[in-house]
Amino acid sequence: MTGRKRVALIGAGIGGLTAARALALRGFEVRVFEQSDELKEVGAGIQVAPNSAKVLRALGLEPQLKAAGYQPRSVVVRDWDDGRELRRTPMDHAQAKYGAGYYLMHRADLLRMLAQPVPGVTIELGARVEALSSTEKQASVTLSGGRKIEFDLVVGCDGIHSLARKTLHGAQSPRFTGNMCWRALTPAGVFPRGLVAPDMTIWMGPLGHIVVYYIRGGQFVNMVASRETKTWVEESWSVESSAQEMSAAFPNVGGDMRMLIDRAQNCFKWGLFDRDPLPWWSRGRITLLGDAAHPMLPFLAQGAAMAIEDAFVLAREAGASPDDLAAALQRYETIRRPRATDVQLAARAQAGIFHLTSPAARLKRWLKLDRFTRSDPKLLNRDWLYEHDVTAEQPAC
Ligand SMILES: Cc1cc2nc3c(=O)[nH]c(=O)nc-3n(C[C@H](O)[C@H](O)[C@H](O)COP(=O)(O)OP(=O)(O)OC[C@H]3O[C@@H](n4cnc5c(N)ncnc54)[C@H](O)[C@@H]3O)c2cc1C
Repeated sequence: MTGRKRVALIGAGIGGLTAARALALRGFEVRVFEQSDELKEVGAGIQVAPNSAKVLRALGLEPQLKAAGYQPRSVVVRDWDDGRELRRTPMDHAQAKYGAGYYLMHRADLLRMLAQPVPGVTIELGARVEALSSTEKQASVTLSGGRKIEFDLVVGCDGIHSLARKTLHGAQSPRFTGNMCWRALTPAGVFPRGLVAPDMTIWMGPLGHIVVYYIRGGQFVNMVASRETKTWVEESWSVESSAQEMSAAFPNVGGDMRMLIDRAQNCFKWGLFDRDPLPWWSRGRITLLGDAAHPMLPFLAQGAAMAIEDAFVLAREAGASPDDLAAALQRYETIRRPRATDVQLAARAQAGIFHLTSPAARLKRWLKLDRFTRSDPKLLNRDWLYEHDVTAEQPAC
């Protein structure tokens, strides 16, 4: 490498912080610009699936992942009317089957883990990027206040409202997906012992589904409840709600799930937005990563996983040809865009099976769930997601 190449990352979310670590480990000098005054994540859980756990292991974070992550016994699908079990996938063998464990975590714990200091990474908080531009050889960011800084590469890790994406593709609003969501984080002691199984459970009903799992060693129960709606709702994660409001939004839920909703605490609500897949991600020395490139519905729990995979591949390809970063960006995009697009579209398709309305279709789902998943493995079978291992691939040059 002719001198250490300098990379700017816009955004210190899960994508930006993973990319910072991955790029620094490949010898790049990295500056992360984050508009918030502190590194923060919302009080909610996140699933770290085996495909992303493999990347975190390759980045030296497996001990922390094991310490902070809750490993569920199984992934279980239930009908929310009566609690009937529709499908059970044991996860205690995830390590053997997929090559890495399956972890349920508090988002703040994941972010803290990713933000551990690494030589070569500087994180600037309260640093909002107002503009970016690129030539064939360099890119620059302009911070609020007017400071302009040149880099060899600029990566937009700036989420669904990405300025980098807007700079490359022009302004387009995210698409309201017709779904709204509640999240709740409840101390486990609030529920009768045994009510919440040590599984990752998806309760499916007409026009909605609810995901329930433990985090922080079983101290908290994380709940995310999605429901289709025609009314436009707030996109922010931070609109406060309540168990009463959530309960009213899911009037037909029965059995154990009813009690879980009625006693839920720390409830927030928001609207779910995504965007259509992009035809290209990079121009000059600017590229996109994570939600900035491919924001998706959370129905496969793979948005952050895709950002983490993106980060590893970008760093690997840039590290393989640091003196030809334009070629590295082309390889990054050729490798990542098809996979991210597949996952983005599959996440949309999930609503079709999670939210079936007619009793006949729901009965068919129950009777033929295995056949369903065999005929279209992307519907409920997650092997194609979890088996993927970007850390086993060689640089494409
Ligand atoms: C309900 C729900 C559940 C989910 N569950 C899962 C799950 O279980 N597993 C999973 O893998 N994924 C899940 N996801 C998806 C996941 O949360 C996102 O895909 C992931 O957080 C995206 O990370 P990111 O770093 O790309 O973007 P973000 O987390 O949005 O981070 C972007 C960062 O950029 C900063 N920023 C923005 N603009 C600027 C600017 N101009 N200058 C400086 N900084 C800027 C922001 O402040 C922010 O910190 C879920 C999503 C939802 C909505």
